[in-house]
Amino acid sequence: MMAECLRILIADDEPTARMLMRAALQKAGFEVVVSVDGDDALRQYRARPCDMVMLDVEMPGLNGFQACRALRDEAGAELPIVMVTGMDDTASIEAAYEAGATDFISKPINWSLLGHRVKYLFRAYRALLALRAADARSAAILNAIPDTWFRMDAAGIVLEGNGGTRPPGAAPQAPRPSLPLSASYPEDIAAHLQGGFAHARDSATVQNFDFQLQTDTREVRQYEARLVTIEADEALCLVRDITERKHAEERIFRLAYFDGLTGLPNRQSFVERLEREVGRARDAKCKLAILFLDLDRFKSINDTMGHNVGDQVLEQAAERLHAATRPYDLVARVAALDCGLEFARLGGDEFTVLLPRITQREDAMQVAQRIREMMQQPFQLRGREVVLTTSIGIAVYPEDGADGPTLLKHADTAMYHAKDGGRDNCQFYSASLTQHAVQRMTLESNLRLAMERQEFFLVYQPQLDLDSGRIDAVEALIRWEHPEHGLIPPLSFIPLAEENGLISRLSEWILRTACRDAMRWLADGHPVRVAVNLSPMQFRDPQLFDTIRTILQETGLASEWLELEVTESALMEDSETTLATLLALRNSGIRIALDDFGTGYSSLSYLKRLPLSKLKIDQSFVRGLPDDHDSLAIVRAILALAKNLDFKVTAEGVETIEQARTLKSLHSETLQGFYISKPVPAAAVGPLLRRRWRIDAPE
Ligand code: C2E
Ligand code: CA
Ligand code: CA
Repeated sequence: MMAECLRILIADDEPTARMLMRAALQKAGFEVVVSVDGDDALRQYRARPCDMVMLDVEMPGLNGFQACRALRDEAGAELPIVMVTGMDDTASIEAAYEAGATDFISKPINWSLLGHRVKYLFRAYRALLALRAADARSAAILNAIPDTWFRMDAAGIVLEGNGGTRPPGAAPQAPRPSLPLSASYPEDIAAHLQGGFAHARDSATVQNFDFQLQTDTREVRQYEARLVTIEADEALCLVRDITERKHAEERIFRLAYFDGLTGLPNRQSFVERLEREVGRARDAKCKLAILFLDLDRFKSINDTMGHNVGDQVLEQAAERLHAATRPYDLVARVAALDCGLEFARLGGDEFTVLLPRITQREDAMQVAQRIREMMQQPFQLRGREVVLTTSIGIAVYPEDGADGPTLLKHADTAMYHAKDGGRDNCQFYSASLTQHAVQRMTLESNLRLAMERQEFFLVYQPQLDLDSGRIDAVEALIRWEHPEHGLIPPLSFIPLAEENGLISRLSEWILRTACRDAMRWLADGHPVRVAVNLSPMQFRDPQLFDTIRTILQETGLASEWLELEVTESALMEDSETTLATLLALRNSGIRIALDDFGTGYSSLSYLKRLPLSKLKIDQSFVRGLPDDHDSLAIVRAILALAKNLDFKVTAEGVETIEQARTLKSLHSETLQGFYISKPVPAAAVGPLLRRRWRIDAPE
């Protein structure tokens, strides 16, 4: 039985037929309304629509066909209309469909089956309606999709599709119906689509593939096709324009993997590539090198000339990297460059170069040296020539690290080592370097303790005044007696103390101790000056002058007995504050000696401006005396210069009587060195001060 009670309107002019029909249908569970002819049926339908109409063909007034047409017009496609025709009357069956009938029943009617017949008719009609709705929905969906779509058969013939409505170039036009795909798409793409059909059918999956087409405006656009089978012999294909998405993906990729300023790969990209290359080198059992570059003094360019100029430097540096490593314009071929090397900018002024296949460590050094030389060329910045140098650290797989992160870290360490070695320098990472780093770390922590444990003490090295034959000054030199490691030389820990800031406390202690000791010698009746070394760091301290004055007051030492030894590098750094400090010191009566003279870059005109009292000729020149002509010439020149500028001179590192004599003959005023005395503890200074020396110039 039907779930709901359906109403059927019957139209027949013959009362018996009406009656029988009503009885049969009612018995089958339908509600039945009867009408006597076409006009009556129409009237009744209008008064109260029903779920189905059954019309006799021959009726007075409006016949069945006319009534059918009128009802169809009025009720639309939804209403099932069944014509009751005479048997074998094929003409009226055709006329019935033409008039819009849904189905027909031929007379004579089998009354016992009528109910079933109508029931199935209903069901079929419902199914048909549902199918139509589904079709309409699919069509609506397809039309709402902004993509091009078409249906095709297994032979690649297009059955139906949209297209022709979208702007040219936005998507490929839908292929034209009933023509093969190749009529609308290039051969290869058509073949691909047809191949996709078979795949989609056999695997019952959606097949995707991307392709490119040139549009009418000669623009290349990217498309994505999706193919899904509808039935064994039919597939639906959607083609989408993904040009914008591809562009966006590329942009995102660039942002994630490339440095915006130089266009070089960024750290992320480098790290990934390195990981791959290390894996490859491991499999192939070959070497690989990383160069870690850092532009020396880049920070000061950035700070003084501005970030725009800094950016220019980085861009130009990136260009030079390319130029330096272009295999074909190398004069001497470097095999390492033929193996697809890669650069990256890790950030700031740090660049890396990956040499994926090298045969020996020297290959990496060769490339590094070449890069270093290229970077030495002056940079044109705001119309000015600025020279920058580069420090490069090198780490080699497998010796310097078994994986990417370790290699990168060690190349970085090696770079710092290169910087320590005076910049403009290339250095390998090696195990001894790590050891060095570890030692430094322990030394640093020990250094902090050393102050508290009072492990420091001063020694004094006398300076002989050649005129009087007496010691007129002593240089204070620091010593560190480590409880386990013994004596640690000052050059090993002073740079460290400068780095970690301990230097200011340490130098205060040195100054105070030296002044106190000098006071004692003066009190014993020896007119002796004490010379104290100042580190360049201290010169940057605006408090320096005040600190020294306080110490002099505390210890009671008159300023004329204090001499400060400074190096050229300390004086070069910041001329304004340096000059102010120097003047303040000199005006208070303290003497200033320029230490290690000759090893720096001092220009004569520069020295003239400085309130210096003394030059100390570096040991390296004294060492060559008396036989080395160059040394002799230099020492002579320095002495002449000093005389000219009215500076006193001390020659350092005098180890032999011959050196002492030569210096005397050249009119050096004072001598310092092992020949006179090694640096000695404070207690041993007194006897030296009482002694007299006699140095005769050679004839
Ligand atoms: P410097 O100021 O040039 O000190 C002279 C160095 O040469 C001393 O080494 C001294 O022992 C050594 N020397 C002296 N005569 C001779 C000689 O005839 N032959 C040879 N071969 N060497 C000689 P030292 O004490 O190891 O000091 C090294 C450096 O450490 C000093 O060089 C100085 O730059 C620094 N330094 C030492 N003490 C201090 C200090 O108290 N404060 C600061 N800031 N630096 C210090
Ligand atoms: Ca010195
Ligand atoms: Ca010196």
